[in-house]
Amino acid sequence: MFGLTEILDASCIVTDPGDMAPYLSDWRGVARGSAQAVVRPRTTEDVARIMKWASRTRTPIVPQGGNTGLSGGATPDRTGNAVILSLERLNRILSVDPLGNTLVAQAGCVLANVQKAAADSGRLFPVSLGSEGTCQIGGVIATNAGGINVLRYGMTRDLVLGLEYVTAQGEIVRGPKKLRKNNAGYDLRHLLIGSEGTLAVITTAALRIVRPASTRLSSLAACETPEDALALLGILRAVAGEDIVAFEFMCGTEMNLVRSRFPNLRYPFAAEYPWFVFVELGSEHTEIADGRLEEALAQAMEKGIVTDAILSRSETQSKDIWHLRFAVSEANRLAGPTVSHDVSVATEDVAKLINDVSLHIKEKFPNAVPLFVGHLGDGNIHVNILFPPDVSLDMDAYRDTARRVSDDIYKFVSALHGSISAEHGIGRFKLAALERTADPVELGMMHLIKKAFDPEGILNPGAVLNSSFKASQPN
Ligand SMILES: Cc1cc2nc3c(=O)[nH]c(=O)nc-3n(C[C@H](O)[C@H](O)[C@H](O)COP(=O)(O)OP(=O)(O)OC[C@H]3O[C@@H](n4cnc5c(N)ncnc54)[C@H](O)[C@@H]3O)c2cc1C
Repeated sequence: MFGLTEILDASCIVTDPGDMAPYLSDWRGVARGSAQAVVRPRTTEDVARIMKWASRTRTPIVPQGGNTGLSGGATPDRTGNAVILSLERLNRILSVDPLGNTLVAQAGCVLANVQKAAADSGRLFPVSLGSEGTCQIGGVIATNAGGINVLRYGMTRDLVLGLEYVTAQGEIVRGPKKLRKNNAGYDLRHLLIGSEGTLAVITTAALRIVRPASTRLSSLAACETPEDALALLGILRAVAGEDIVAFEFMCGTEMNLVRSRFPNLRYPFAAEYPWFVFVELGSEHTEIADGRLEEALAQAMEKGIVTDAILSRSETQSKDIWHLRFAVSEANRLAGPTVSHDVSVATEDVAKLINDVSLHIKEKFPNAVPLFVGHLGDGNIHVNILFPPDVSLDMDAYRDTARRVSDDIYKFVSALHGSISAEHGIGRFKLAALERTADPVELGMMHLIKKAFDPEGILNPGAVLNSSFKASQPN
């Protein structure tokens, strides 16, 4: 079809509507689009041929990994003009080097398989997300995903050493380099990380792997307020310092939702509480990690900061704790229409943001239920506003309400100099919000960068940046 059949094996091209369906909507079923075809290349050279063809025919290309993104970036628009480029067949781990602590994987490798390959060599690839069984390393890099271990190991950006990629014109930038040090000119790798398929197609990545902590200890603690949760972080920082691997939290309403949707998950307390904190420490020494976590919790209880807590005594108990945290996205998806926000503020401002937003939603949208969950240790809060099924809103009313809710939340975030997208990216859902909140000079430079990488505007058009953007004139 349209010349694609001349450059690709027929088995790489999907046009049957039934077979294409899973690629045309996102994980939550919120974004829906259509496409001429899905192409599933086997090699980097296939990807290059596809991009050359797309450049010649001005065909929009939407790169797609595991399709778990939460910002609509992997779903084409509804015109049916686009071709989806699925990386799923580029799924080989190419090397693991425990000496240099590097792992090279093709973009379509599922994150869990990357983690396993590292573990098989006695190493850890630390990015960990609720979607790790499905999302692909290319998508993780293209969104600069965060997850639960950012506090200790950083964002995905901090773990990518080099990339091989294909440009919008179909040129292959060979690699990936496995270098720790490389100051040879601008580091384009960092532009591609987090570019959500709008600058190039990532085909292979060299990743940094680390020696895993020999002991990991988890705890679930109950608090009365977000301020108390932050105070617990302060105590832990003093007691355990760099050994804090994860410091996550969720509100009691979210916990109740998780428990009602997944009654088989083990909730360890007899009572309900307003806030929960999930802690993980990683250490080289069992006794030290154990002692530190107990000490921090004891101090916190003495000061009335923590009302109840359990400490994992086994791998199984630890998993039980984290299953409650990882079930959140699915519980929210099943609960009905939610307006989701993935925002970040400085850690010290988290409690203010939560309190301001809670009060505002209560006053202005009394039927809505605010759910707070996220990566408290790094200031990243997911604010999900749930409209219970008994709140009957038609689609237009829902969209209007959603827009007003989001505008208000982003105002609170901007007032605290925060970010409207901490880890999920802009995709297609937050394009207008980026335009409203970004520094105009930086936004102008982003458009220039896009133009330099993709002059025809064929790579994921309509994602991240608005193609009809007009730079504001200087005064
Ligand atoms: C249950 C659940 C939990 C999640 N938890 C987290 C979390 O804790 N932290 C977090 O940051 N995110 C989280 N996410 C969001 C999502 O999983 C991540 O954003 C993930 O990194 C997306 O990977 P993917 O392969 O599914 O990418 P896709 O959804 O397929 O694509 C995402 C974007 O990347 C682009 N892209 C994909 N592959 C490539 C490539 N090879 N080259 C160029 N561009 C590409 C796409 O065009 C799109 O714009 C979660 C999602 C779910 C469903």
